[in-house]
Amino acid sequence: MTGSPNAAFHIQTPLFACRGLPPGAAPRVRLKLECHQPTGSFKIRGIGHLCQRLHADGAGRLVSSSGGNAGFAAAYAAHRLSVPISVIVPSTTSAAAIQRLREVGADVIVHGDDWDTADRAARDLVEREGAGYVPPFDHPLIWRGNSTLVDELAVQGPRPDAVVVAVGGGGLFSGIAEGMERAGWSDVPIVAVGAEGADAFDQSVRAGRQVTLPAIGSIAKSLGARTVAQAALDWQARRPVSSVVVSDRSALDACKRFADEHQALVEPACGAALSLVYDRHQAIAGFADIVVVVCGGIGVTTGLLQAWDAQLGG
Ligand SMILES: *Cc1c(COP(=O)(O)O)cnc(C)c1O
Repeated sequence: MTGSPNAAFHIQTPLFACRGLPPGAAPRVRLKLECHQPTGSFKIRGIGHLCQRLHADGAGRLVSSSGGNAGFAAAYAAHRLSVPISVIVPSTTSAAAIQRLREVGADVIVHGDDWDTADRAARDLVEREGAGYVPPFDHPLIWRGNSTLVDELAVQGPRPDAVVVAVGGGGLFSGIAEGMERAGWSDVPIVAVGAEGADAFDQSVRAGRQVTLPAIGSIAKSLGARTVAQAALDWQARRPVSSVVVSDRSALDACKRFADEHQALVEPACGAALSLVYDRHQAIAGFADIVVVVCGGIGVTTGLLQAWDAQLGG
């Protein structure tokens, strides 16, 4: 993996049968375990690819405004490229997130009280210094990188009847759709899962245009894009997609059950997708064989799972 300057920073993740389901239960469920990426989420696929291309095109410095999985993937990629990176985050960012970014060598700058302010400062820095800007989801190279997940699926097993994927800003969804088209799976439905209060994709699909949420009201922070990428809506218009929104409670309970049965922690953003399996959701009832993308996330601890439980009245 190391050595070649062109080698990708993500790894090929395992595809396992979902544990803890009754024998013979339908649908058969296979899990694509992106929680085992070196950055704890699928984000390194797309963001790693974008960072490599920015570097190859001469960027001597990278800039991100994400304190979440996107920023961590960018910081990790910058570290692998030996390129300095500044991550500008709002004051609402947790101390743990800032520490994680610093651990991989990022220069973390706390600026402003909300993400829009931090992101504006990041873009200003990019303008002033000619640095490479790393957005969280809305970029064709990110989709290209994320699409490698499907290249792996296509060699790891038979073609599924549907792919279940969490959707926030739509970068993962767009990458999956692109990869499925390349694999000749354009007719295989994608089940896109959002969370109540973080459902920009679902609202946009219903409205038939981009809808911007006034605020994010879900514990699934990694699904908290206020506006979904137009590319995701374009894919939705030209291939089979169903859109589902689940409650924070369902997402959290799925995280807990996945932890118990697969011995790994994932964020509620990922629990949202898994909850369709554990709740026997009607959106997957008609399929014989599905793949669920276990998108992962590092913004979770056993303490946070307990705190969310209490917050939701568990
Ligand atoms: C970013 C992220 C998502 C959502 O991805 P989008 O590309 O924004 O739709 C889901 N789960 C996790 C863990 C993430 O980090």
